[in-house]
Amino acid sequence: MSKKTSHNFSVIKNSKRCCCTYCLRIFSVNEVVDWTDDEPEQTALCPHCGLDFVLGDYNNDIEQIVRKAKYDKEKNNR
Ligand SMILES: [Zn+2]
Repeated sequence: MSKKTSHNFSVIKNSKRCCCTYCLRIFSVNEVVDWTDDEPEQTALCPHCGLDFVLGDYNNDIEQIVRKAKYDKEKNNR
């Protein structure tokens, strides 16, 4: 299953904070400055790692997503 988060322009613009499911950071939506030119919507790029794994808190509980992702990562490292 792909965790890619494409075409999320409208979600990100309605969010206050975002998280990146790749580097697991939480940051303000104002920090997102890079976007891809995908159709039909642009895709946010993480300001920390530059990948398109960004989720907004408009329709997501990003605290929970990051917590779960960290847990999964630690589990996989064992
Ligand atoms: Zn990132």
